Amino acid sequence: MTNTVTPNTFAERVLAWYDIHGRKHLPWQQDITPYKVWVSEIMLQQTQVTTVIPYFERFMQSFPSVVELANAAQDDVLHHWTGLGYYARARNLHKAAKQIVEDHGGTFPDNIDDVIALPGIGRSTAGAVLSISRNQRHPILDGNVKRVLARYYAIGGWPGQKAVENALWEVAEKNTPEKRSANYTQVMMDLGAMVCTRSKPKCDECPLQHDCLAYAQGAQTEFPGKKPKKAIPERSTLLIVPLFQQQVYLEQRPSSGLWGGLYGFIEAQDIESAEAELAKRGIEASSFETQTAFRHTFSHFHLDITPVFAVVNSVPRKQVAEQKAQWFMFNEPIEVGLAAPTKKIIQQLVHVL
Ligand code: SF4
Repeated sequence: MTNTVTPNTFAERVLAWYDIHGRKHLPWQQDITPYKVWVSEIMLQQTQVTTVIPYFERFMQSFPSVVELANAAQDDVLHHWTGLGYYARARNLHKAAKQIVEDHGGTFPDNIDDVIALPGIGRSTAGAVLSISRNQRHPILDGNVKRVLARYYAIGGWPGQKAVENALWEVAEKNTPEKRSANYTQVMMDLGAMVCTRSKPKCDECPLQHDCLAYAQGAQTEFPGKKPKKAIPERSTLLIVPLFQQQVYLEQRPSSGLWGGLYGFIEAQDIESAEAELAKRGIEASSFETQTAFRHTFSHFHLDITPVFAVVNSVPRKQVAEQKAQWFMFNEPIEVGLAAPTKKIIQQLVHVL
């Protein structure tokens, strides 16, 4: 069996489905601007819609335009991202906003090559922003769309491989209609998120069912192919949590690398090196209390974290370290960007102390 539909009938069918079932009430779908669509697309890259909504709303309240985002302090931007993970997304968003102000006078560009040239924006995101906000015709190929197309055409192999990705781009391109590009982009994402879901696709509700090759083979979950398995390495660290009365000491991490630009605890491999690290900062702990370890999993490794409370009897008058560092009241909101494990340890402090 082969797919004999013309591109138009593919698009027509999914657009007819969109008219009835598509999502039209998400916050970034109201008074649409390229800026709103861009921010939402970046937030949605690794995160579910329901999680993104409150983050998006807070972000828009604080940074209602590209210019306001460009003028914000990076700490403030990262603070609005706390809990969403993958912080490089926020740093790139901020960098790109500055670039838009410098190179495009603060107006989001409407040429796809200019959009792709911005930090953190690939071909698919650029296409999504310009098609949804400007109704330009561009194919997109995010994770949801890859799944729908890989199944419909039974394109095997892992989409991380260039040849597989190229084959998917080719069918994405050929199916994208000349008209209603904004709705078409939206419906392809909706179908992937709502119908052609990862583990239990609802094929009976799908407008593509009658000639979907994966459905015909009963092999829906075999497409797209899985990434070849590699054992995820394991690492471990102590996170040293200096405590003075109701305050906790956090310092800003270098802007690149793990948790770049966020505030966090000092890392050490053992108590001896923890003492040395604290001494460098003029901090002397009177006791160390090792807490229960927990695991935090990144895309490329597991990190086993053991928090160690370091009780401090007095704080140095001035900070010795060069980086930004501060004592924060841990039972009050901390208004800087924090990685999830840092936040978790602070919540633990509030409960146990
Ligand atoms: S029929 Fe099923 S597998 Fe095929 S595109 Fe629709 S939901 Fe996905």
